[in-house]
Amino acid sequence: MVLKYSRIQSPSSINTYRQCPRKYYYIYIEKRKTSKNIHLVRGSIAHSVLENFFTIKLNDNEPCLGDKLINWINELFENEWSSKKKELCELDMTSQELKYYYNETKEMLNTWLFSFFKRLRDLDSNNPINAFKTLTPEMEVLYKSDNLGVLGYIDVIEKVGENISLIDYKTSKAAKISDDYKLQLAIYAMLYKEKHGIAPNKVGISFLKFGETHELMVNQDLIDYALLEVELIHANTQTKNIIDYPKNITPLCKWSSGQCDFYDICQKCNQRNLSDF
Ligand code: SF4
Repeated sequence: MVLKYSRIQSPSSINTYRQCPRKYYYIYIEKRKTSKNIHLVRGSIAHSVLENFFTIKLNDNEPCLGDKLINWINELFENEWSSKKKELCELDMTSQELKYYYNETKEMLNTWLFSFFKRLRDLDSNNPINAFKTLTPEMEVLYKSDNLGVLGYIDVIEKVGENISLIDYKTSKAAKISDDYKLQLAIYAMLYKEKHGIAPNKVGISFLKFGETHELMVNQDLIDYALLEVELIHANTQTKNIIDYPKNITPLCKWSSGQCDFYDICQKCNQRNLSDF
């Protein structure tokens, strides 16, 4: 299938459109900037740590593998957190608030590591180095389909035996595959299948805070779901006319401690055209 499209989409752009077409318009058509927040910055720190985690050099007879990996992940975390100091300081947060997120992110990474230890033991308790090699995935791989007009970065592609799993890391507060996450995973499965001719067996989210990975089996229904959503977004985003991007007014416009990045401009637009809001 070759789709007619105006721009390459991504799981993020598609989920933005599903949340609010007007917001999509501001970000992807007017190309307005979105603000940074602690969740984005610390998510990026955690992703970088895990991406580098598997680059560690291990000897075949590593005497204290557990200690070495704990020191390694914490060293990577300290380096990444320091490298983002400038961005973190620009977030308008108190030092106590920053300290809270520093501790929480470090704890998440260590929680993930302890769940990884369990996987090493389950796979080969007699030879953890061998298990480490088996579980070393491909990381942060770009999949882009010119036919379908969609791209995505897959955090983890893991091949163990005959099983292929695509995993995304999340620092979310709840360990639940939401509708947005499900669509993101479905798109990854679709892109993988288009490129390799076979679908992965599973897709899932690794919830770092909980050390849990929640997975979905990949079947044709999941891939068809992604194809349908990709078709829909292309059909709905052909024009650059703001009136084709209606507002979706929900509690995500403004909440007790914050508001949508475009709340003010969205309201001004409201004053010009009352029927619009
Ligand atoms: S304020 Fe609400 S309606 Fe306006 S762009 Fe943001 S989410 Fe959409």
